[in-house]
Order: sequence, then structure tokens, then C-alpha cells
Amino acid sequence: MSTTAFDVISPVDETIVETVRFAGRAEMDARVERADRAFATWRRVAPGDRARLLRRFADAVDADIETLAGLEVRNAGHTIGNARWEAGNVRDVLGYYAAAPERLAGRQIPVAGGIDVTFHEPMGVVGVIVPWNFPMPLAAWGFAPALAAGNTVIVKPAQYTPLTVLRLEQLALEAGLPPDVFQVVLGTGAEAGEHLVGHPLVRKIVFTGSTAVGKQIMRLCADQVKPLTLELGGKNANIVFADADLESAAATAPMAAFDNSGQDCCSRSRVLVQRSAFERFMELLEPAVKSLAVGDPADPATAMGPLISARHLAKVTSYIDEETAVAFRGSAPRGPGFWFPPTVLAPVAATSRQWREEIFGPVIAVMPFEDEEDAIRLANDTPYGLSGSLWTRDLGRALRVVRAWDSGNLSVNSHSSVRYWTPFGGFKQSGLGRELGPDAVESFTETKNVFIATGE
Ligand code: NAD
Repeated sequence: MSTTAFDVISPVDETIVETVRFAGRAEMDARVERADRAFATWRRVAPGDRARLLRRFADAVDADIETLAGLEVRNAGHTIGNARWEAGNVRDVLGYYAAAPERLAGRQIPVAGGIDVTFHEPMGVVGVIVPWNFPMPLAAWGFAPALAAGNTVIVKPAQYTPLTVLRLEQLALEAGLPPDVFQVVLGTGAEAGEHLVGHPLVRKIVFTGSTAVGKQIMRLCADQVKPLTLELGGKNANIVFADADLESAAATAPMAAFDNSGQDCCSRSRVLVQRSAFERFMELLEPAVKSLAVGDPADPATAMGPLISARHLAKVTSYIDEETAVAFRGSAPRGPGFWFPPTVLAPVAATSRQWREEIFGPVIAVMPFEDEEDAIRLANDTPYGLSGSLWTRDLGRALRVVRAWDSGNLSVNSHSSVRYWTPFGGFKQSGLGRELGPDAVESFTETKNVFIATGE
């Protein structure tokens, strides 16, 4: 495993933002061992004290929002508005789970001849492996409930986007979390990531990333029967019925897919429009796409920044060739940086790779459908099942469709799908387990059942 230096490149102008150093094997092992030793004391910190430390951590993040957001604009090319939201989300997730330690109660179950009680025991060292598309929130969705439950945590950010997570490590210490309770290690997935997954002292893995790597990690975890949460890819549908508020549906469809330059597992990249409204919808969609401000992410008026890397730009570009029917496109800057214009494809075949694969860039494919049954069939015709939106004025239909849709996070007449206090996760190959919401803390515990004989 290499301890090489790695240049963190700004996707906005391709300059070096910072040079970081990857952890070698010896350092990784030492960090895990320290996290394991810290667990012995962290798990015994009184619930109220653990809660207070997490609230202080949340306060430290709150006081640092501008710094964190500025780092994410430079490191990941996120728009400043998004980056502020992301840092605020870390604060809120910490604040929400700071209320968990005093509430992590077991049960008392009636039995004959004694008393039966359950305890939610922390598991030990938790490894949180994070992708580059939302470095801060996706780390926090793992580390905040894990810490609240009494575990220690090692976060491995994606190699392209380590800077904000490193800053969070510093803030945790400043807030008073004991040393080694919350650590960040840097490295590639194949090296640092796999080493973390395979380390016997790491007792649970939270992985957010691609479905292909998720499957690999699941196989590695099988060797040690290691529990894991998987948040994987998506190819999400946005279904627009003819009776919907077409103006709102068309006005919101671009950012439901192009937010964060389409590098969003919840991106609604497959737009299904009822045939009788198809033409009108496309007429409304075109100006909405063409008017998107794409450019300098530090400018608050910008809606969309660049893609994360040259490699990713090449991947997204590979979906558009001479055969691809491009209905219309927005604009993007020229020159340095990894820019790709918002792009709408139509017509597309349901068998095409543009319709079936997660492009993870600002590309929408639009397809007509006939009726409710057809819409459900097309929406479910994917190995993924992460999110989706549905536009209709018919409440009965909305409920029928959402119940028939094999997807974890749906919204009706809106595109919102992530609130830290509601559960988030995928059906089918979009994941395993749920993050956020009231139950996430329990997934960082083992339930222990104890029977105490009373001699009756
Ligand atoms: P990726 O799978 O390439 O990498 C994710 C993380 O895993 C990185 O930290 C990487 O270094 C690490 N990794 C890579 N190979 C590894 C291995 N063999 N062992 C251990 N760790 C390894 O994903 P990405 O390209 O960074 O992110 C994009 C993907 O993430 C998309 O598919 C997207 O849909 C998905 N995603 C899902 C969610 C969700 O909540 N469901 C959220 C965001 C992103």
C-alpha cells in the first residue's frame, strides 16, 4: 500500500488545491488499533456527556460553515449554495443524533421465572467509506449515528475529495471529542478502502458509492460476517402524468436531475411523460434547461458547476455519440475545468445504455408512456430502486403508483427526498439498510438479550 503524495485538483480550473498524503498499511493498522483502544473508553462515556460532546461538535461545524463550504467549492466544484447546505446538513445530522445517547433504550420483555431485558451495545470501530459526490453529508450520515451509539469511527473519503472531511476531523477534536474517537484516513479505494473493510478490528462498514464496488465490499465483508450498510447507485424516474401541473413539473425537472452536475445518486435522470402531454412538456422543458446558469461555482447565481474529474468527464461524454438523439442542451464554459452542458436526450430506446445506466452527469433522457400501468412498468424496469418523483393531481393515482414503485425514496409533486430525520436508502441494487431517520442509530448496535432468573 503506497504512502504517496496525491494532488487534489480543482475541477473548476484544474489547479492543485492541496497535496495530501495517503496512509500506508502500517499507519492504517495503527489508526484502527488506536480507534479500537479509544472504543473501550468512548462506549463508557455517560450518555448525557456523549450527547453534549456531539452537540459541541455540531456547534463547531456551525461556526465553520463558511470555511467548510469554501473548501468544497474549491475541492469538488460544488456551487456555494449547495456547499453551505451540505455543511449545514452535517451540523443538523450531528444535532439530531446528539439526542440519541440518552434515548437508546432497550426493552423489557415479559417472560416466566425472571426478567428479560435487551441492550443496544455499540459494535466497536466503524469504517465509513464515502464517495466524492457529497463528501460532507455522506460521511456524517454514517459517523454521527455511529458515534452517538458509542462506536469509534474511521472515515475514508474518496481520494478526489478529502479536504472537508479532514477539516471535520480537526473540528471534532476542537469540540472535545477524545483523540482517536473520530479519525480520517486517506487513500485509494483499492488500497485504504479494502484494507479498512478487511481489518478484523473494524466491526461494521458503511459504504456509499457505486453498485459495482458495493458488491465487492459485500463479498469482502462475507469473510468475517461483517455487518454493512450500502448506499449505492440509482437510475431514478420522474413520472409526469398529463393531469399534472405541467409548468411546475417542467420547471423543476432540470434541477431534479442536474443538481450537483447530475452527480447525485437521487438524480431524476429518466423522465417519463404521459404521451398526451409529451409535446407540451418538452416545449416547457427546453427554456428551463437552456436558461440554467452553468459556471463559476463560487458565484451564488450559478446553478451548476463542473464534473469532478477529467476521468469522469470522459465517462459522461462517452454517453453522447453520433447515434445519440440530443433534443436540446444548455451551455457550459470552455477552457480549463471539467465542464459538461446540461443535456436532454429524446427519443431514447428503453434498451439503450443512456436509459439503463447511471450516467452520473447532467444528462436527462425523456420517454413517453401510455397509462398508469405502463408508467409503473417503465419506472421499475431497472436494477436500481433509490428514489423517484411523481407528478399528478389525482391523489388516488399518486398513492397507487408510489405503493407499486420498488424504490426507497419517493416524492409526489416535488423532488425532495432527503431529510435527516426521515429514513433514506435503496431497494434492489441501490442498497442495503437505511440511513438517517429515527432508526439509524440501532443499525450501529448489536442487540443483546439478557435473562435474569428471579428464582420463582
Ligand atoms: P466508488 O464506488 O468508485 O467509490 C466510493 C468510495 O469507495 C471511495 O471512497 C472509493 O475510494 C472507495 N472504494 C473504491 N473501491 C473500493 C474497494 N475495492 N474497497 C473499498 N473501498 C473502495 O463511487 P464514486 O465514483 O466515488 O461515487 C459515485 C457512486 O456513488 C455513484 O454510483 C452514486 O450513485 C453512488 N452514490 C450513492 C449514494 C446513496 O446514498 N445511495 C449517495 C451518493 C453516491
